[in-house]
Amino acid sequence: MLNIALFGPPGAGKGTQSDFLVKKYNLFYISTGDLLRKEMAGRTKLGLEAQGIIAAGGLVPDEVIVQIIENTITGNPGSNGFLFDGFPRTYIQAYILEGLMLKLHTSLNRLISLDVSEDVSVRRLLARGVTSGRSDDNETVIRNRLREYAEKTRPVLQFYRDRGLCVEIDGAAPVEVVRDRIDAIVQEELGKQLFNVVLFGHPGSGRGSQGRALAARYGLEYVATGPMLGEEIARGTATGRRIVSLYESGQLVPDEIVVQLIERKLADAKGVKGFIFKGYPRTLVQSYILDALLKKHGSSLARIIVLDVPTLELIARLDARSQTDRCMPYDTSTAKIVKRLQEHETKTVPVIQKYSQRHEVITVDGTGTFDEVFARLSAVIEDGLRASR
Ligand code: AMP
Repeated sequence: MLNIALFGPPGAGKGTQSDFLVKKYNLFYISTGDLLRKEMAGRTKLGLEAQGIIAAGGLVPDEVIVQIIENTITGNPGSNGFLFDGFPRTYIQAYILEGLMLKLHTSLNRLISLDVSEDVSVRRLLARGVTSGRSDDNETVIRNRLREYAEKTRPVLQFYRDRGLCVEIDGAAPVEVVRDRIDAIVQEELGKQLFNVVLFGHPGSGRGSQGRALAARYGLEYVATGPMLGEEIARGTATGRRIVSLYESGQLVPDEIVVQLIERKLADAKGVKGFIFKGYPRTLVQSYILDALLKKHGSSLARIIVLDVPTLELIARLDARSQTDRCMPYDTSTAKIVKRLQEHETKTVPVIQKYSQRHEVITVDGTGTFDEVFARLSAVIEDGLRASR
């Protein structure tokens, strides 16, 4: 998700630049001014409350703003990202925005502040007033709006400077120059974003082979917890020795160990475009852990895919594999195979259900040849990559 706020005094060009950003990056546009004008046109309780304040050039109370903005933000969790215009306008609103973004497991990437002098603002707003039909585009109200901006809104910049999120640019430059500067900032943000995929599927559905091939093709890092544990054992690390003793006593490897390994993968992976997780998360607890780990790296899941193969075919595939040298220690008998399929059903299916409440979960037909399935998965990945650029 890419979340951007355009900041600046009235007349700085936030609305003009928003048009371009929304179209180019397919962002969900939220202008509190527009939302308030809609409330006023509908003569709702909130609209009537705001009317007098807006007409006088004041700021509408934060309690009203939170009511009009919360539903809009939380009602569109699947969007590519949000573009905020004219919000946040007070310190309290900056905290409100932080809380609402957290609720969606995301955060504001950048606040872009368009600097313009008071003279430029007044000149532009008076010119707009000729055609906008907005009652607040007249000189007395404009002066009030600018005073409110200087007193209550400009200090909000410090909130974002403190968090390293603020970029200030010259908003008095020609529209195209400002647009290109904003575009460069957005491009830089997108370049930092990781494209993360979780590949779900029953044992035998082909997650491993497809996941590795997808990772190679799209420059993603393949993260499979099974092989990661094996690597630790092979390297003879202290963790590896602990894992061996757990295996020997028939115990599961606890989440604390797996978390450390994944955390290290995320921290060490420089220059990758993102990650493909396979075999993780397997339980609800692990799904919360993964969300938190990605959040810590300023990232989230871009695509969640379920590779779907009918149960009978899964059993046939696992049974066939068990007759070859690719036989895994956990596939040596039918009882073990059935147990693994059951485990997936009881522990991992609820994880998929949990994700489907907040994300779009894409089911891909896993039957057919390797190439056929790979082509289907590639289409999903490419679609995701396009949407995130
Ligand atoms: P705008 O369309 O952003 O210029 O907003 C027009 C008017 O709506 C402002 O002068 C304020 O009275 C009110 N308004 C818009 N957004 C906010 C906000 N985030 N907080 C308080 N008042 C707002």
